[in-house]
Amino acid sequence: MKALRGTKDILPDEIKTWQTIYNIANKTLTTHNYKEIRTPIIEHTELFKRSIGTFTDIINKEMYTFNDQSNRNITLRPEGTASIARAYITNKLYSKRSIQRLWYLGPMFRYERPQKGRQRQFHQLGIECLGSNMPVADIEVIKLANDILKQIENEEQYLLEINSIGNLQEREKYKVELINYLKKYENELDNDSKNRINNNTLRILDTKDLKTQEILTTAPKLKTYLSESSIKHFDTVCEHLTYLNIKYKINHYLIRGLDYYNHTAFEIKTKELNQQNTICGGGRYDNLIKQLGGPNIPAVGWAIGLERLIILMREKLTNRIEENIIYIALRSFNKSNIIWDIIDILKEYEIQFELDLSNSNLTKQIKKAHQLKSKICLILGENEINNESITIKWLETRLQQTIEIRNLRQYIKYLKINSVT
Ligand code: ATP
Ligand code: MG
Repeated sequence: MKALRGTKDILPDEIKTWQTIYNIANKTLTTHNYKEIRTPIIEHTELFKRSIGTFTDIINKEMYTFNDQSNRNITLRPEGTASIARAYITNKLYSKRSIQRLWYLGPMFRYERPQKGRQRQFHQLGIECLGSNMPVADIEVIKLANDILKQIENEEQYLLEINSIGNLQEREKYKVELINYLKKYENELDNDSKNRINNNTLRILDTKDLKTQEILTTAPKLKTYLSESSIKHFDTVCEHLTYLNIKYKINHYLIRGLDYYNHTAFEIKTKELNQQNTICGGGRYDNLIKQLGGPNIPAVGWAIGLERLIILMREKLTNRIEENIIYIALRSFNKSNIIWDIIDILKEYEIQFELDLSNSNLTKQIKKAHQLKSKICLILGENEINNESITIKWLETRLQQTIEIRNLRQYIKYLKINSVT
């Protein structure tokens, strides 16, 4: 049996990395009063259609959608923001606090062609700050992405790209002009861009096709359609990023793939992953909550793709999982219920141990302890049980001594205090 294409088992060897990321995120975000939220993996398909936008890649071709036994149309979530917005409305979180700072980590599903850094089940870590339309919220959110990434990667490995895509009215005006311009070059555009002219015009701006990019250099610029207040919002964000020493590049062609963004849009990219080089994507979305039937509440957030992040962090954080420090070799289990008292002592001093579960002879069990690179083997054989004692064998030096079992606690305490284990 094989795992489904585009999915991966995260094996024990790798889990340490995931726990490290979780711990870094939890600590950093909790300090800033962000609260973790966990929403269901399945939602009504309608939710994503109404939020992400009908003409986006996700809705058009990437969703895992099915009908359940009662014929409800259901989708495995392709991203986190729509679900958070739904949970925010369903649970009336806005009535509990005017600002809600939320974060999540979990699997997302998109039917895409699997390749390095692109899976069908992948994981995102994301934050959403709901309730403020002030630039300070954008800055806090971007700073947090940077704070987290800094702890995981070298800062030279990634760069923030940022843009303002204005508000809906500004974009609509611009769109008309852009369509007029592009129509003149319709035959020279790449196929994707050609298909996007009427329905998803702005996405053409972040095309990877060189010929289309060239055509765009003389196209009308979104920036010239922004109002004074939109420009001021954006300039404030940039000024503070400079103060914070967060390196960024203004990219006037940056357009996010989801419809709900306005004003600030940003991505954090790495130079190292070729096509799949965006590790974090985010921006402001002031209309989404209202669009989904909630109150008129502005918001800003981002999501980091964890698989891509992990590809980059491999060298920085090692993956070695800690094996046991103490191996317990045991004979005559029937007579040795004292073993549970020994285990209680190890638990009390938080020393990682492993109890032998085989029925092999002591020599074999000690050999196993060597193989597993344990430091110490505690031996509880016939003799020890009869004499109420225990043998402590140091595997590196092969020195061993037998002590009375009632002195074991003292021995372990001594080891712990002197950081021997
Ligand atoms: P891309 O242009 O690479 O397809 P996207 O714009 O679709 O990315 P977002 O929807 O903004 O991505 O998701 C945020 C982040 O989630 C991405 O920057 C990326 O790191 C990660 N991500 C998105 N899709 C996948 C995938 N199929 N596999 C792994 N990571 C993904
Ligand atoms: Mg995508």
